[in-house]
Amino acid sequence: MLTLTPIKDLIGQQRDYLATGNSKKIEFRINQLKKLKQAVIDHKQAVIDALKADLNKPEFEAYFEIIGVNEEIDYAIKNLKSWVKPKSVKTPLTQFPASAKIYPEPLGVVLIIGPWNYPFSLILTPLVGAIAAGNCAILKPSELAPHTSGVVAQLIKNTFDPAYINVVEGGIETSQQLLGEKFDHIFFTGGTKVGKIIMEAAAKHLTPVTLELGGKSPCIVDSNINLSETAKRITWGKFINSGQTCIAPDYLLVQKSIKNQLVEHIKQQIQEFYGDDPQKSPDYARIINERQFERLKGLLADGKIIVGGQTEATTRYIAPTVIEVVSLDSPVMEEEIFGPILPIIEYEQINEAIAIINRRSKPLALYLFSNDKTKQQQVLEQTSSGGVCLNDTVLQVGVIDLPFGGVGDSGIGNYHGLASFKTFSHYKSVLKRGLWFDLNWRYAPYEKKLKQL
Ligand code: NAD
Repeated sequence: MLTLTPIKDLIGQQRDYLATGNSKKIEFRINQLKKLKQAVIDHKQAVIDALKADLNKPEFEAYFEIIGVNEEIDYAIKNLKSWVKPKSVKTPLTQFPASAKIYPEPLGVVLIIGPWNYPFSLILTPLVGAIAAGNCAILKPSELAPHTSGVVAQLIKNTFDPAYINVVEGGIETSQQLLGEKFDHIFFTGGTKVGKIIMEAAAKHLTPVTLELGGKSPCIVDSNINLSETAKRITWGKFINSGQTCIAPDYLLVQKSIKNQLVEHIKQQIQEFYGDDPQKSPDYARIINERQFERLKGLLADGKIIVGGQTEATTRYIAPTVIEVVSLDSPVMEEEIFGPILPIIEYEQINEAIAIINRRSKPLALYLFSNDKTKQQQVLEQTSSGGVCLNDTVLQVGVIDLPFGGVGDSGIGNYHGLASFKTFSHYKSVLKRGLWFDLNWRYAPYEKKLKQL
């Protein structure tokens, strides 16, 4: 673990590097993005192995992380020249002759803190935005995915000057040492509770923050829907990475008349995806650590298990599970589940489902399966969430032009594509006046001018 002094020095080195102006040059930024892409390709196998070691993440799911980062890099390279161009705005006639422009400029030295569930993509995707916008960056990957943290550190070390981009590995103490220093922006992905700690620490330096947090993302299922397709899409979104996905459907709100059929379809889908015994499936991840395993095991007691429910402590296995909720006030309906447990609640009218959602904190994602456009509109208008996906789950995160982020307790700010560039830029307003003419309307003496108003 690093002590305070090296962290201070490290930031000092980055400030010196920033002052050289190198990181601001457009060609330099593009070259660094290309280098990052090559590094991701070169370390591909190491990333796959690390994700396997940390989460038993299936290779196919590891590719989601790798491809996601590379798509962001390609998109930034393609669009950077247009993003960095100053944008002209109109000036009032009273200021003639003048021109006004908005110049994006880098924020400076930024800190990126990552979580353990997608420990590769959620630390490198924000980095793409930081580089594109011309910043220096320090990354702090999650200590709870130590293999991936090590690969990220190695990849960055092999690719960049540490005075430009660097990694500080470690846990909460390291994170807090970093937070004791002044950064020009902090980009944090993690839980809501820790998000508040980050924001409090940032406030001491008046450092702006982006907080990509969690929450309970609801999934409403209306009755007029293709149930087998719906079940397939829900089962996929809920159980990839063993439910440890920030935008996984947290709980289901199902129209009463189709509840039993939907449960049957989900059961069949689990069987199709993971076989008779998901514990033997090569495509099913494990719970990150013992603490999370015990927490999730405890939640199984909060309802009647209707699918799955098997657990094994030694391998931190929890079967894909559906439970019928006994009380809306039980812990499984209070805290973010972040594991392979899917509570199911029935409703009669869509208003009831909306009321249940609106009684809780604003979620990161909201899902609605319905062919009824009026209901789609009603849910969009009457709920607030970071994002929405109609008739599918999770895929909204893959649309690069959709800013990704939360609202209320699920986060502050957003990123991906242009939104990432904006997040890591300051938009500087610049007014340029001509000296060859002046309207004189603003100067004293005011008396005659006042009468004209
Ligand atoms: P976490 O908040 O426990 O940890 C995230 C990071 O913060 C880690 O690097 C950790 O070292 C650091 N940290 C933890 N406690 C700290 C403290 N007291 N002071 C300073 N730093 C501290 O989150 P996690 O368990 O790694 O991830 C799970 C959470 O992240 C879930 O709530 C999930 O919904 C959320 N998440 C959100 C997104 C998103 O994009 N919005 C993506 C993934 C995960």
